[in-house]
Amino acid sequence: MSDYSHILAAVDFSASADRILSKAIKIANRDKAKLSLLHVVEYMPPIDSAFDPMLTGNWMLDEDTLVENARQTLIKFSDRHELKNVELEVQLGTPKQEITRYIEDHKCDLVILGSHGRHGLNILLGSTANALLHAMPCDILTVKVEE
Ligand code: AMP
Repeated sequence: MSDYSHILAAVDFSASADRILSKAIKIANRDKAKLSLLHVVEYMPPIDSAFDPMLTGNWMLDEDTLVENARQTLIKFSDRHELKNVELEVQLGTPKQEITRYIEDHKCDLVILGSHGRHGLNILLGSTANALLHAMPCDILTVKVEE
């Protein structure tokens, strides 16, 4: 089995995120690898001109606030697992694109993610796992998530 040097855990804060991170920590400790955590804020601004601006009131947060809130949640998540020397990253976009970009930019050699998350509860692999499997930027470990 290969020794990994930089492992990325894709964290969506769903119920299985703790289990996915525990697996990532085990492998990172075993291989003395660097561990990074990435959360992608998925945000679809209202672009349809028919969208009523009356609805864009307080309940809509701007992108910077969404990213900052996610960063704080990721810090708490990492603290709960007592992680030290871990890289925490929050990006805005689609999980597939941002996870792939991170892997390429930071030369990760293993990405760990859940088999299912919010995007694909009833299919064999969720859309993020499936998309990464096809793009294959590095080794992928999908942690089986119970439905
Ligand atoms: P899904 O594509 O929703 O079925 O999610 C499968 C797995 O992809 C999740 O368990 C996470 O590991 C990862 N993932 C999905 N969405 C995100 C996100 N917004 N940020 C980081 N990782 C994600």
